Amino acid sequence: MNLQCQHCRQINSIPNNAGNVQFRCYNCGAFLPKPVASSSDTSEAVGLIGGAALGAAIGGPVGALIGAVIGVMIGREAKTDG
Ligand SMILES: [Zn+2]
Repeated sequence: MNLQCQHCRQINSIPNNAGNVQFRCYNCGAFLPKPVASSSDTSEAVGLIGGAALGAAIGGPVGALIGAVIGVMIGREAKTDG
């Protein structure tokens, strides 16, 4: 799965079976959010995954990256807590 760094927006690929291990961004070294999404992060995570899949279908790796960013924005818009 992919996790986006909250500090520099770098997309980091981590193993799906990482469990509760917390990874650092390979670009800036900041801690990445936990792979297990809390309820408040679910919509953003879904948007990220959905956007990445959509972008990959459109334009390969670059499209996936753009799609992921768009997906995060969509996910944030979907949040109900404003
Ligand atoms: Zn980073």
